[in-house]
Amino acid sequence: MSAIKLTIWNEYVHEKKPGLVQLIYPDGIHEAIASYMRKHDDVDVKIATLDMPEHGLTTDILADTDVLIWWGHTAHDAVQDHVVDRVQEYILNGMGLIVLHSGHFSKIFKRMMGTSGSLTWRERAEKSHIWCVNPYHPIAQGVDEVIELPHEEMYGEFFDIPEPDSLVFISWFEGGEVFRSGCCWHRGKGKIFYFQPGHETFPIYYNPQICRILLNAVRWAKFKGGESRKIGNCPSSGFTLNELSNPNTREEDWM
Ligand code: ZN
Repeated sequence: MSAIKLTIWNEYVHEKKPGLVQLIYPDGIHEAIASYMRKHDDVDVKIATLDMPEHGLTTDILADTDVLIWWGHTAHDAVQDHVVDRVQEYILNGMGLIVLHSGHFSKIFKRMMGTSGSLTWRERAEKSHIWCVNPYHPIAQGVDEVIELPHEEMYGEFFDIPEPDSLVFISWFEGGEVFRSGCCWHRGKGKIFYFQPGHETFPIYYNPQICRILLNAVRWAKFKGGESRKIGNCPSSGFTLNELSNPNTREEDWM
């Protein structure tokens, strides 16, 4: 089987300024994730960042991407709308999307969810427990029933998202809050996973359990349907119907 073509997109702003984030991620958050992914033969990694032409998300790159990971925080508004349109189109046609941490406020996440993506938060280096609530899900394979992070930013409910198709993780924080921290959705042919851990001032993306979850998510999010599906037309409206109308789509998710 050919390797999964993974593109890791990072706004790459915090890490360029001298300070704590740069000390933790001297080559950027994307390189921390990429160095883990490169240890696995079934993943072929590309990097894209905000300051590249078209934010590194040209048609050529997206056409050569099975799964896109997205980390953004301080520069969501700098992402050009026509690039968001393009990424959305590729997701609806089967590209997987993994949105990390503060990416809940990214243009692409809000576009795909259709909601505000808002939540409550508190930046105070609190202990977090990530509880697996769906141990039979592909994203939970090889993952402990609970992962303890000594320091993480608190994200709490209410998280303004559509009801997830699958909920894989719920996080508890030292202040008593809980949060739906690992959520799956389907949009068209594409699969989307949101995963909460990953505040930039803590070394979250060096945690082997967190990395394992990301790897599982990459493998899960790759489109596994056939290429030969017919696209149907609705005769009365002229609309083109895609895989949304195909009842077999969900079965293939588990292949
Ligand atoms: Zn954060």
